[in-house]
Amino acid sequence: MLEKLDFYINGQWVKSQGGADHHVIDPSTEEPCAVISMGTEADANAAIAAAKAAFPAWMATPVEERIAYVSKLIEIYETRADDMATAMSTEMGAPISMSRSSQVGAGSYHLKNFIRAAKNFEFNRPLGAHAPNDRIIYEPIGVAALITPWNWPMNQVTLKVGAAAIAGCTMVLKPSEESPLNAVIFAEMMHEAGFPAGVFNMVNGDGVGVGTTLTGHKDVDMVSFTGSTRAGTAISKNAAETLKRVHLELGGKGANVIFDDADDKAVKRGVLHMMNNTGQSCNAPSRMLVQRGVYDKAVEEAGAVAASVTVGPASEEGRHIGPVVNEVQWNKIQALIEKGIDEGAKLVAGGPGRPEGLNRGFYVRPTVFADVNNQMTIAREEIFGPVLSIIPFDTEEEAVEIANDTPYGLTNYVQTQDSARANRLATQLRSGMVEMNGTSRAAGAPFGGMKQSGNGREGGVWGLEDFLEVKAVSGWAAE
Ligand code: NAD
Repeated sequence: MLEKLDFYINGQWVKSQGGADHHVIDPSTEEPCAVISMGTEADANAAIAAAKAAFPAWMATPVEERIAYVSKLIEIYETRADDMATAMSTEMGAPISMSRSSQVGAGSYHLKNFIRAAKNFEFNRPLGAHAPNDRIIYEPIGVAALITPWNWPMNQVTLKVGAAAIAGCTMVLKPSEESPLNAVIFAEMMHEAGFPAGVFNMVNGDGVGVGTTLTGHKDVDMVSFTGSTRAGTAISKNAAETLKRVHLELGGKGANVIFDDADDKAVKRGVLHMMNNTGQSCNAPSRMLVQRGVYDKAVEEAGAVAASVTVGPASEEGRHIGPVVNEVQWNKIQALIEKGIDEGAKLVAGGPGRPEGLNRGFYVRPTVFADVNNQMTIAREEIFGPVLSIIPFDTEEEAVEIANDTPYGLTNYVQTQDSARANRLATQLRSGMVEMNGTSRAAGAPFGGMKQSGNGREGGVWGLEDFLEVKAVSGWAAE
């Protein structure tokens, strides 16, 4: 079994100060695949102290040099893509082909976008033509605690580390205890890229332990967190005492509004998007709102598409979906499927239990419910598994009302060939992102939510700004 007990602190691999061993479980087999240490308060403190000591010099390093380190990191990242794909696939269950393409690919994509954004970003700029002696200076916030989830591990790690590093922040990364192996490889890459000691530190641990130390510490100036809304609330409370900045990327319950005039591929696209990564995406289109005229046809098609989705071990090549991450999630998803049945939703594909032929591993049947109403539990709670809820609607106004009737506001989707209507909905849907007719957001677009989906924006210019303070200077001597 793989042993990855050490943490990366102040440019070195060091032993935990009293941390217990923790087994990482392969969700495809339910067997342990690695052992790590669960960090302690002393480990977190050591990492924070290293980041604090490294901050003044890193802040003073010209941004061009900071960009050069990240460029070097991308080169190394691309040469070790296979190691990274295998680590994620083993620890969180993404099928290896998908891990190589989407999971690993997301990392270099974000890092490259940050470099492009930073090259065009004026860190020191005039306030405006009316005030020749006023400058606006963007400066790094300081020491950043980066806390990440297991579902898109490298996506999240690079969105935070890339932005923090270019902005001039020093940092402590605490990856999810469910998926620590990719972060260990990433730390090796940061070391090889030559980042000065203390700029980047990595400590494994859980939320209650290392997570709480990081978010409550007086020497941590900001927290960038991605994970559940529950943890986001706990972190905000803990961070309040020291009034640090807290950027949150939380859960979602996205609506995918399909009108009578949607294109032929809209239903299939929506179901496959929902099933991607075994439904474990915060921006999953988990509520499919279908207009009455195409409702019956859409339900039938959605059931057929879900039935055609195959499930299997993450180590196998192919386009199947893998298991969900762990037993807790598996049990939670099963309970929600049961709840959907009990509350009267119509099961049109999948259902409780494991798919046929798979009796070990955290596998879930791709499931579709129809005739859901928006007050049912399966329409309100983030399931985080391959479970789609279909809800009928009659009018555009009703669709907007249902879509917005949720505590979340991350991504909504619109499918219609009436472009005026699509644009109308884009302005009425209360979410940080709206994707229409299968067009995904372009490079550099900000990712983030409204309401209980959080307050941060990641990626591109907005991602950099999350790690920057704005300083107003008056009396600046004209050059
Ligand atoms: P989680 O909240 O259980 O854990 C996320 C991270 O936070 C882990 O590293 C965990 O150890 C840590 N943590 C937990 N409690 C903490 C606490 N009290 N203090 C400090 N740290 C704490 O979430 P998860 O189950 O790993 O991830 C799934 C969730 O993440 C879903 O709700 C999903 O929607 C969300 N997510 C959101 C986005 C986004 O950008 N909006 C992206 C991916 C995932």
